[in-house]
Amino acid sequence: MTLDDQFARALPEMALPWQAEPWQAEQAPAPRLLVLNGQLAEECGLDTDWLRSSEGLRLLLGTHVPDGATPVAQAYAGHQFGHYAPRLGDGRALLLGEVVHADGHPRDLHLKGSGRTPFSRGGDGLAAVGPMLREYVVSEAMHALGIPTTRSLAVVATGRPVRRDTLLPGAVLARVASSHLRVGSFQYARATDDVDLLRRLADHAIARHHPHAADAERPHLALFEAVVAAQASLVARWMLVGFVHGVMNTDNMTISGETIDYGPCAFMEAFDPATVYSSIDHAGRYAYGNQPLVAEWNLARLAEALLPLLSDDQEQAIALAVEALGAFRRQYNGAWSTGMRAKLGLPDSLDDTVTSPLVDELLALLQDNHVDHTSFYRRLGTAAHGDTEPARELFLDLAAIDDWMARWRALGPDADAMQRVNPAYIPRNHLVEEALTAATEGDLGPLERLLDAVTAPYDERPGHERYAAPAPDDFGAYRTFCGT
Ligand code: AMP
Ligand code: MG
Repeated sequence: MTLDDQFARALPEMALPWQAEPWQAEQAPAPRLLVLNGQLAEECGLDTDWLRSSEGLRLLLGTHVPDGATPVAQAYAGHQFGHYAPRLGDGRALLLGEVVHADGHPRDLHLKGSGRTPFSRGGDGLAAVGPMLREYVVSEAMHALGIPTTRSLAVVATGRPVRRDTLLPGAVLARVASSHLRVGSFQYARATDDVDLLRRLADHAIARHHPHAADAERPHLALFEAVVAAQASLVARWMLVGFVHGVMNTDNMTISGETIDYGPCAFMEAFDPATVYSSIDHAGRYAYGNQPLVAEWNLARLAEALLPLLSDDQEQAIALAVEALGAFRRQYNGAWSTGMRAKLGLPDSLDDTVTSPLVDELLALLQDNHVDHTSFYRRLGTAAHGDTEPARELFLDLAAIDDWMARWRALGPDADAMQRVNPAYIPRNHLVEEALTAATEGDLGPLERLLDAVTAPYDERPGHERYAAPAPDDFGAYRTFCGT
């Protein structure tokens, strides 16, 4: 196999250890393949039989480096919960290099949990089976939902215990992304005061993700505009499906517009904008309903980092950045309204003065009645066919939902179109926990069945009823953890 080293060559200052000896991953005493994404492997030109071989597993662990490859840990900075950290970087990850996808574009092949790097600080550089399988399931579910995301190629158990609150089995996740350039990458380059580095990073990002920006009058401003547009669209997609990222630090926001770094993420069940799952997000900074605002805040940090490239006159640079950032709200609102109409089966041609109050009223009803976000829209599709009972029974205030549904049905919703945009199956928190607990104890069955459901989310199948239902009451309040 051949791995390119585009990033390491273009930005050696951000690829450690510079060009010195290649950094070596941790040895794994007993590698065992837990899950492999055969289709993704093929799309990336990787031979699945070879990946399953002992040499293939060593590639997926980072202990076998193909000839000519230059694995590196990437440098980045970032605002974590609003506080700037100048040197984060890949503390437990490794960019093996780039492969060419069947679509002709490069993809990063990246390992998470592969051992310590120069960015590890106090951390062990390792990862446990549970969190790596969690990223695998949730990212593949997001992909199946049509939401831009990094992909998961494989999880390999190392046979080496990882010390957390208790000893846990260790694993490495191999992931594939259109790149790992983050808002934090730009913050890092900006903080070096090396404008040439910042320019090379921006030009690399343009070539890789937003090539049309190269033809603009101001290419670096066009790059910023493209990232604003990609993130406005991405976060609207999260909101429509009830996804809570959980740790939207600037180092966890991509330039490509892909969802990245699945840590304390979770899908909301009962609709409530204040929904928070992360155990460390005490103030609710990254609550479901705050995500568009946080995205805009992160993009302002990207704009600050780019200022030296936008104009020689910094006053003008700021004015240009402010104007470009102003597009975020319009684009987000547009993507959200279009998506809501689709969820409700209504044509995009309907006037906003009709749909907007209808949507607002519905959200208030969902919140007041603690209605499960995902099953409601799916059942509403059945209501569009004429049977309102399955949706109606989710509400306590029947008069209010009857009145709302009568007005909505009068607009002629398209039931079939609704079932193509409203998923039946999402990775529900209790099912994810069940699958990860079983896998950690050695039983991969529940994980495989969950993957089967969530990777075909719109295709409702008999026998899969439990994958469409919210958590039982005794599951209680859900908490997720970072950096585990
Ligand atoms: P995350 O919250 O996963 O996005 O990680 C934030 C930062 O902490 C990144 O720089 C990670 O590389 C680093 N980090 C997280 N877990 C570990 C670990 N076990 N060992 C070393 N660094 C880590
Ligand atoms: Mg991260």
